[in-house]
Amino acid sequence: MKDKTPTKPDDHDPFQASQEADWQNFRDHLTTTDKLGHRQWVYAKKPHGKWTQRRTWLSWLLIGIMFAGPFIKINGNPLLMMNIIERRFSILGQLFWPQDMVILAVAMLIFITGIIIFTTAFGRLWCGWTCPQTVMMEMVFRKLEYLIEGDSVEQRKLAAAPWTAGKLARKSFKLGIFFVLSFIIGNTLLAYIIGLDALIPIITDDPRQHVTGLVFMILFTLLFFAIFARFREQACTYICPYGRFQSAMLDENTMVVAYDHKRGEKRGRLQRDESLVRRIAGGHGDCIDCHQCVAVCPTGIDIRDGVQMECVHCTACIDACDTVMDKVGSPRGLIRYASLNSIEKGEAFCFTPRMKLYAVVLTGLIALFLTLVFTRSAVEAMFLRAPGSMFMQTTDGKIENLYLLKLVNKTMRDLPVELKLEDSDGQLEVMGEKNLLVPAGKLIETSVLIQLKPAALDGATKKLKVGVYSNGRRMQTVKTVFVGPRKSESEHEKENEHHDR
Ligand code: SF4
Ligand code: SF4
Repeated sequence: MKDKTPTKPDDHDPFQASQEADWQNFRDHLTTTDKLGHRQWVYAKKPHGKWTQRRTWLSWLLIGIMFAGPFIKINGNPLLMMNIIERRFSILGQLFWPQDMVILAVAMLIFITGIIIFTTAFGRLWCGWTCPQTVMMEMVFRKLEYLIEGDSVEQRKLAAAPWTAGKLARKSFKLGIFFVLSFIIGNTLLAYIIGLDALIPIITDDPRQHVTGLVFMILFTLLFFAIFARFREQACTYICPYGRFQSAMLDENTMVVAYDHKRGEKRGRLQRDESLVRRIAGGHGDCIDCHQCVAVCPTGIDIRDGVQMECVHCTACIDACDTVMDKVGSPRGLIRYASLNSIEKGEAFCFTPRMKLYAVVLTGLIALFLTLVFTRSAVEAMFLRAPGSMFMQTTDGKIENLYLLKLVNKTMRDLPVELKLEDSDGQLEVMGEKNLLVPAGKLIETSVLIQLKPAALDGATKKLKVGVYSNGRRMQTVKTVFVGPRKSESEHEKENEHHDR
């Protein structure tokens, strides 16, 4: 989207003249740092209004889902689990294994394409409404801060006040609560990674038995505490990659939180007893330069400077400005969800060819994903030659090869599995197990011995096919190689003579 450069401030107004330097170079530095790069703490004013109310309702719903998630199981599997350590994943109760990497890669592509379409159409709606960072920061931590330290003015005063017992108590109380919440969030994240069943023993057992788990628990707690107590909006500005590349996805038709510069400029303070008619006659727009939109912004920016990387689309400035418009008797929506084209040309929101193309790609990816999920085998087998083994010869002259078999049961029920040699005469024996049973959602490993007559080998090796059956149904056919001794020419000739006869 093009930069929206606001109309130059009124040089006769001393307040606006003082803002001129910022007006000219707002894109050259972050609003949350001074010219030397030192952090400028944002004391965002508490927002009120219909958008804040809607976001609050949605946030409570999302927070509920987020904390309840680890406890919800579908068919005995977690609703969502991303066990990177054991490479086991559960999405909506469906278990995925490393063998399903293609499915997970397609799922990832769907996620990325979905975000691209969404961002192209609706800007950073994700950031403001559903991102866990924004939801927890604005709806939990900042609200607690308002309760303990008061609104922005009181917070500013408290920060500037000397360290007394009262200030120390308030700050400690706030940070104590933040730490407890960070511990809960850290544990919730851990539950999404390793699953609740693995987390509970870490909490309840002797700590010495789960040192790694405890280390991660402490690390996650400290990480979240640092983010919500200190780092805050900088996580969105400096760390989050989505915030950095979103500007590449926006265009003139993207719906963003935007200031209607055509209606607002030329901005100027509303003089006491000045009528709106007189303001308009004086060349002023609807913006009374009250800075309420800046005061509520959790990232400390001025939306009137145009679309900026720091804007997380939290809608606080919409509510603040609507409240001001109500007070001065102007229509609401000076700051609103709008595209650049709708502000400049009055065009309604439309799906552009770019969005339609992305939608086609997304539909194709979803179709591919569903096909892969619904056609994947219930049992996945990996049949590998046992490491370091060649072949063995029995006393009756047969050749034996040893294999390593890994079986993954992707279903929620125990499955009996049978192996058969396909297209070859020989014997296949699963070592140690007469009846092979793979427990639901588990991976088992065992050894398999295959025995062939030397005559069955074409040269020193033979390609084999092994059928994997469950309840009489072939689930998969795996291919492997059988190795035998290198044959001498005379042995070949003897065998050929034998075959000719
Ligand atoms: S809140 Fe509205 S009127 Fe006040 S400065 Fe911001 S845009 Fe202008
Ligand atoms: S500019 Fe408005 S929407 Fe963007 S972060 Fe600030 S308050 Fe939220």
